[in-house]
Amino acid sequence: MNVPALRAALTGWFANRGRDLPWRLTGDDGRRDPYRVWVAEVLLQQTQVVRGRVYFERFLEAFPTVQALAAAPQEAVLKAWEGCGYYARARNMHRAAAQMAVHGLPTGYAGWLALPGVGPYTAAAVASLAFGEGRAVLDGNVRRVLSRLYAVSQPTDAWAQGVADTLLDPERPGAWNEAVMDLGATVCVPKSPRCGACPLPTHCRAFASGEPGIYPAPKVRAAVKEVRGVALLIGDAETLYLEQRAGSLLGGLWGLPLEEVQGDVHDDQEQAALARLGARLGVAVAEPLGTVQHTMTHRQLNVSVYRAGAALHLPLTAVAERPLSRLDHKMLALVKESTAQPPLF
Ligand code: SF4
Repeated sequence: MNVPALRAALTGWFANRGRDLPWRLTGDDGRRDPYRVWVAEVLLQQTQVVRGRVYFERFLEAFPTVQALAAAPQEAVLKAWEGCGYYARARNMHRAAAQMAVHGLPTGYAGWLALPGVGPYTAAAVASLAFGEGRAVLDGNVRRVLSRLYAVSQPTDAWAQGVADTLLDPERPGAWNEAVMDLGATVCVPKSPRCGACPLPTHCRAFASGEPGIYPAPKVRAAVKEVRGVALLIGDAETLYLEQRAGSLLGGLWGLPLEEVQGDVHDDQEQAALARLGARLGVAVAEPLGTVQHTMTHRQLNVSVYRAGAALHLPLTAVAERPLSRLDHKMLALVKESTAQPPLF
């Protein structure tokens, strides 16, 4: 592999064809703002760029500095993140901001890596883009590009990180990292790599093989577990009784009262869960509204939503005042649909 020629080809391509993204603003020194890079990289870990761009603007408007983020209540941070999913990211960012507001923003890889929710990828991205430190990023896009350049079917993390470190341009580590990521996101895409638009075919063993798309071999996906639940609507789709969720997935968000249905698919078990939920809240269940499906981190949720009778002892809250998950917004959409049905007679 002619590494200097490969670097020149890719960084030249990036200078002309790199994506124009809002977090790529540079200061007078040509470096990125570390706060913006951090927010963007955390967002993009599990969110596509098109949606990430919207959330990035919304988040930066609400919390333009790390001090503003640290000073905000957790609920306001979750509200700004609402609908983006993987809420542990927002909770960790809030905790990390509290540390940075006291000790200042870290200026290198090790300092970023020590913050809550920051792994090697994000630490390398911020260190290289904002501080010019020679750290190679490794995400799914980079792994795919490297796997194809070397025609390695099943790249291990250690192999891919080693190759990424070797290829990293020590003179321009930030630009190099962004160039590899952009190539993977826009040209060397998963199913049908666009080799005709790529600056690297003469360096690429997968291209030489004639079948670049077979690299890397698909990963075996973890089985998706089905989880069933029942939820109660007390109030209407705008103002209703909400409970704050706990746990690692949706902790800190608010939503309709929920109860998991135990055992296999069986109507009796759903009714038993509904009875437990009604008894806990002291309400009578009135009518079924429908079922929503939602996929979250290897879980397929199927939740049956029911309307409950009047419950003057439970406080009602305006939906607009609380952060809700997409699962809960789907349930509220179901409620709106059911109330929009024309009368039968
Ligand atoms: Fe990917 Fe094709 Fe470029 Fe190789 S030549 S890096 S397979 S887009």
